[in-house]
Amino acid sequence: MLNLKVAIDSNSGFCFGVVYAIEMAEDILEEQGYLYCLGDIVHNDEEVKRLEQKGLRIITHRDLESLRGEKVLIRAHGEPPSTYQLALRNNLELIDASCPVVLKLQNRIKNSYDKGENIFLYGKHGHAEVVGLLGQTNNNAVVFQDFNELETKTLPRNITLYSQTTKSTGKFYEIKQKLEDEGIQVNANDTICRQVSNRDKELREFAGKHNKIIFVSGTKSSNGKVLYGVCKERNPESYFVSNPEEIDPSWLSEGDTVGICGATSTPMWLMKSVQEKLLEL
Ligand code: SF4
Repeated sequence: MLNLKVAIDSNSGFCFGVVYAIEMAEDILEEQGYLYCLGDIVHNDEEVKRLEQKGLRIITHRDLESLRGEKVLIRAHGEPPSTYQLALRNNLELIDASCPVVLKLQNRIKNSYDKGENIFLYGKHGHAEVVGLLGQTNNNAVVFQDFNELETKTLPRNITLYSQTTKSTGKFYEIKQKLEDEGIQVNANDTICRQVSNRDKELREFAGKHNKIIFVSGTKSSNGKVLYGVCKERNPESYFVSNPEEIDPSWLSEGDTVGICGATSTPMWLMKSVQEKLLEL
């Protein structure tokens, strides 16, 4: 036995946007026995599996084109206007669980677009939230996930900068500074969700308090990647797992204090099962 002392970070786990979407899905699943959901309801395969067992049917945008007369859940990431138009044509009832923070950002971007601003969006190419945001500009905004993708010499001298809600605050301000250093006037809108940026600080503290950190997240979660990076930076002995089976006992030594934490898309039940597994070692 390794006699580990294991603690779960009380600030980790679902953000309110994800809680809202899952509660909405569970209510309808109880009533109806099944529910269509456009894309993974949350970027966590284990939680998706749990909800699929209750009747959740994950569909793609292509599936949506041939669906008629059903209820379809829009997840927290939000959708572009084209999805709402398609739903209208196909007589679909959208159960809109878009996170209020994302909806507000969609509105801000739409207003900027309507005013004719040069919109640059720091976000992951093809990410569902980014697709929804880009849709507010008729796909005219420039999306980039790395500063090096921008050819600064050819950029307009005046731009409006936004961020996907789950990006790193530090990187966002670094990008703003680099653009200004190139002589570009930047109207910077820090639209990173506080559920993400606040966790940054809390997590840094938590990661420093334990010998080892086990970070639990789905591999598709952008927020998971950012927050794992925060842990790793503060505590190099941080390890990423998607489920308890991925724990490698060689990471741990006898008597270690181990902290378990996760992304805004990591369910508490999954962190608890990681804890149980560690206590068995
Ligand atoms: S991270 Fe923030 S913006 Fe994203 S779903 Fe959660 S609360 Fe909403």
